[in-house]
Amino acid sequence: MVIIGAGAAGIAAARKLAEAGRTYLLLEATGRVGGRARTDTALFGVPFDLGAQRLFLPGAAAFADLARGQGFDIPAVPTAARLYIAGREANDVEYEDFVGTARRAQRAIIAAGDSGRDLAAARVLPDLGAFSASAHFVTGPFFCGKDLEEVSTVDYSRAEEREGALTCRQGLGAALTKLAAPLAVTLDTAAREISLRGRLIQVETNRGTVRGQVAIVAVPPSVIAAGKLRFQPGLVQRYGAGLSRITLGAYDHIAFTLPGNPLGLGADELVQFKADGERAYALIARLGGSDVHSLEVGGRLARDLADAPPAAARAFLVEALTREFGAGAARGIGEVHATRWTKEPFALGAMSCALPGAGSFRRALSEVISGRLLLAGEHTHETLWGTLPGAWASGERAAAQALAILAGDATGGRAVR
Ligand SMILES: Cc1cc2nc3c(=O)[nH]c(=O)nc-3n(C[C@H](O)[C@H](O)[C@H](O)COP(=O)(O)OP(=O)(O)OC[C@H]3O[C@@H](n4cnc5c(N)ncnc54)[C@H](O)[C@@H]3O)c2cc1C
Repeated sequence: MVIIGAGAAGIAAARKLAEAGRTYLLLEATGRVGGRARTDTALFGVPFDLGAQRLFLPGAAAFADLARGQGFDIPAVPTAARLYIAGREANDVEYEDFVGTARRAQRAIIAAGDSGRDLAAARVLPDLGAFSASAHFVTGPFFCGKDLEEVSTVDYSRAEEREGALTCRQGLGAALTKLAAPLAVTLDTAAREISLRGRLIQVETNRGTVRGQVAIVAVPPSVIAAGKLRFQPGLVQRYGAGLSRITLGAYDHIAFTLPGNPLGLGADELVQFKADGERAYALIARLGGSDVHSLEVGGRLARDLADAPPAAARAFLVEALTREFGAGAARGIGEVHATRWTKEPFALGAMSCALPGAGSFRRALSEVISGRLLLAGEHTHETLWGTLPGAWASGERAAAQALAILAGDATGGRAVR
């Protein structure tokens, strides 16, 4: 059995196979496990998640229990967001207007998706009034890393509604690394081609060729769409279309230290702002009670900032803090680190969301292909797409299918999602 990619999905799959007493080869292109969940402690001297930071409920409950079982501290984060309007905190009426507008946008997209109209989410919105730009940000770039012109109404409507969130004090990436600790992982080994032509599946890597009866491909669809991992023969349209039209959006953290809490914000508080146009963002304050804050950007803006020289992120941060909290608010900024997930060669983006018209393509991605090839990863989960728990569940699903195949059931048993 060969598993390609040691992110959440590949790790979950390998753990299931190990539990069942099966041998496996887990190949990872980079020098570490975790993929888009990675905790750094060197940048700021406290755990900082460069990728996934929050576990959304209810879908994340099982993964949270697993991490708690490994000794990780997983508290809830504050549920209500604060709202700022050009230098001052919003009053209750304005806050209700903001929340109501975002809900109206969300409901319009879901209604279109539920009725099967697979359009760009931006096309189905009613007139949203004063908080229109903020509602676009909250439902698009902030939720899935894409502006609403690139979001399928059907895909959006199938996403599980989020009711609260948890965080991991030691870092979600650290939790994932611990869950991978008992596994044998072959690092620095990038798969380039998977051949289904012979009796065994053959995987060509930068360090030679390996073979297995079954393969689980747990790499982001962006890597396959970019031609970095090819299939021989090429995948039929049913799967190829999903892998090319369920694309990764852009989402980044511009993390920074601001000692002494001059903005007067609570630990892990989410702050939203009244946006004027596309240059919208949110702030996650004082991560874990520390002096580290994170300005959250997504969609085209995140892509543009990642394409620009690193100094652009700092300049953007200063401009944003000055606009939202007044002159002088940015004066105490210390260390700044901006992630650039669209530039990571084995991610090429942040989280998946189907393009308009491709909202029904995910389902095929959890099928058994040619009797012995399985796909895993957040992009293959119909309701928890874009999330770490979705990736985890997809890995467990793929492992269950692989075990069924090895037991003689070429259909991979009943697919569990
Ligand atoms: C900035 C950011 C913020 C996020 N915030 C959240 C959040 O708050 N909550 C949440 O639930 N989710 C969040 N996510 C999404 C979450 O991180 C992902 O959904 C999840 O980690 C994806 O796991 P995966 O296993 O599907 O893919 P990945 O984590 O991408 O793992 C794939 C692995 O395959 C490896 N690989 C790629 N190509 C090859 C190859 N050719 N050969 C061998 N190995 C290869 C990669 O190096 C990687 O290790 C965020 C993501 C980002 C980037």
